[in-house]
Order: sequence, then C-alpha cells, then structure tokens
Amino acid sequence: MATQPATPLQFPIKKALIRRFARDTSQHTRHIVQGLFLLLNGWIGIQFYLWARYYERGGVGMNLPRPAGVEGWLPIAGLMNTKYLLVTGRVPEMHPAAMYLFIGFLLMSILLKKAFCSWLCPVGTFSEYLWRIGRRFFGRNLRLPRWFDIPLRGLKYLLLGLFVAVIGVMSAEALDGFMATPYGLLVDVKMLNFFRTMGITAAVVIALLVLLSMLVQNFWCRYLCPYGALMGLASLLSPVKIRRDAEACIVFARQFQSDRDILDGGFPGEERIGLKQVAGLTVERGERRTKDIYAACDGREQTGGNIEQRRLAAAGRTDDRDELAVAYVQRCTIDRCVGADGDAK
Ligand code: SF4
Repeated sequence: MATQPATPLQFPIKKALIRRFARDTSQHTRHIVQGLFLLLNGWIGIQFYLWARYYERGGVGMNLPRPAGVEGWLPIAGLMNTKYLLVTGRVPEMHPAAMYLFIGFLLMSILLKKAFCSWLCPVGTFSEYLWRIGRRFFGRNLRLPRWFDIPLRGLKYLLLGLFVAVIGVMSAEALDGFMATPYGLLVDVKMLNFFRTMGITAAVVIALLVLLSMLVQNFWCRYLCPYGALMGLASLLSPVKIRRDAEACIVFARQFQSDRDILDGGFPGEERIGLKQVAGLTVERGERRTKDIYAACDGREQTGGNIEQRRLAAAGRTDDRDELAVAYVQRCTIDRCVGADGDAK
C-alpha cells in the first residue's frame, strides 16, 4: 500500500532566527570585567584609607587625594542627593559623586537590565565566588523551598521601601541639613570605621551572611540587598529584553526525530533529555533526568551532573553554559531556538 509522504509541519516564525557560529565568550568577558572592578574597588579602598589616615595622624604619611569613587559605596547618600537634585534642580554640595554614580547605575539598569549587578558590583562578585566555593566545598548549593524562598525575596523590597519612605518624606532643606551634619559630612569615613572597628555583633552577622552565601546561591543579593531590588525595578523599564517565543519553540522542539530527541515530556522540571546533537556538537547518546531545568540553565547545578555536559567537554569544547541546549528549548530565547536541523540557533 502506497504511503503518503509526510507533509513537513509548518510552524510560525515570527522573527528570523540568528545562528551563532562563534563561541559565546560573554561569561569569560564578564568575569574579567568583574575582576577589574574588584581591583578598582580595592585600589579605591586603599587610597581612601591612606587619605583618611593622613588627616587622622595630623598630616603624617602619604598625602593622596580622596578618591571620588568611594562614593559609589554610599547608595543612600546617592538616593538622597538624587532627590535633592530633582526637587531643587541643584547639584548637592556634599557627596555629589554618590549622586552621579547612583544615577549612572540606575541608567545602566534601565538600559541594560541588571548589568550593574552581574558585571560591576563587587559585592555581587564576592557573592558569586562564595556560592561557587560553597558548591565545591559542600558538593552543592542549597535551594530553599518555594514557600520560603518567595516571601523571603520580598525582604529586599521591604528594606528598599523603608529607605524610599524615609527619604521620600524629607524636604530638600532636611536633606541638605542632614548632609551638613558631622555624620553626613563624614559618612564615607563612618563606613570605613565600620570595617576598621567592627564589633562582635557586626562580625557575627557578616560571618553568618558569608556562610549563608556559600550555602545558598546569591543569598544576600537574592533576599536582602535593597540596592539590587532597586536595580531590578529599574530594569523593568529596560527596552532590552530577551523574550521567549514559547509557542514557536515548543513546535520546533517537537519536530525532532526520535533518534535526535531533544526533549521528552514529563512532569514540570522532570523533562527528559536525550541529546545526540547540541549546539552543532555531536554528543554521545544518553539521557538523564534533570531536577531543575532552570537551575541547569543558570549553571546552578553541577556541570555534567544533570545533563550530558561531560560529553560536550569531551568533544573539545569547554562548558560555558552555552551548551545547555535543554535550556534553549525550555527557555526558548528567540536567538537560541533549536532549529529543525538539530542545531541550537
Ligand atoms: S543585588 Fe546588591 S549586592 Fe548583589 S550584585 Fe546587585 S547591587 Fe550588588
């Protein structure tokens, strides 16, 4: 009996897909930029310390200029001065650099989403090192249960709301008056003193945060940082977005022949993958279940522990998370959709 040739399935393509041939080096570049900013902040810290010591010792020692970059560590002063500028139209006399840096980082978040957090913020860089160290040391990072994780994430917004509320009700005169107090004038030195003369309580709290950051990925950033909360809110205004075209990508994913399966259905988070070809690389057959497909995409799970990454490495490519094809299929960013030829695009 004659069989009908299979009609190729049609699926909507709303936008031309872009195939990337070159290896994605964005993570590598990001780590370099993070390292450079860490060095820059280290240098600023040392220079500021020497500047403060010179005056504390009555003009003895190295007489270096005060580094204006230290005001990047004064986000509350930045917020206060930004309000002062908006209300009065005048640049504040005290800590103007805090305001310029604050506005600069805010604009960066509006234009490039959370680029400040992931590329520049030294605390974020430390946080990233800590969970990586923790994962190496303890074998894995903990994931808080959803019922605990979601309300806990609200904490940083609560803290941000408190700062905004307090500063929001202050008049321009009150803001100016605060900056003219000895505390306002020396707020940068107070910050230095916090680290120089740290009490037991502060040391215990910081040690606890370090430990939690080793156990739980980005603990501080995820749950407690009000600055990150603000940058996150600003990033909502960003015109730069990666949107998944779920409809098109799911259709794409289903076009694969059984011997080239990319994704099998299952309970959410339990999808089965069995890859023969990923991102243009031939890999050996094999399949495992991944507990958390999104964690895999973020690199939160151990490389090689949940999908066939070991074989990618064996194929001569290092893992820079690009090869997490399952995430491409699942998240379906428009430029990384999986095409019918088996390549990630
Ligand atoms: S969340 Fe806060 S500490 Fe973390 S990277 Fe962003 S600004 Fe820095």
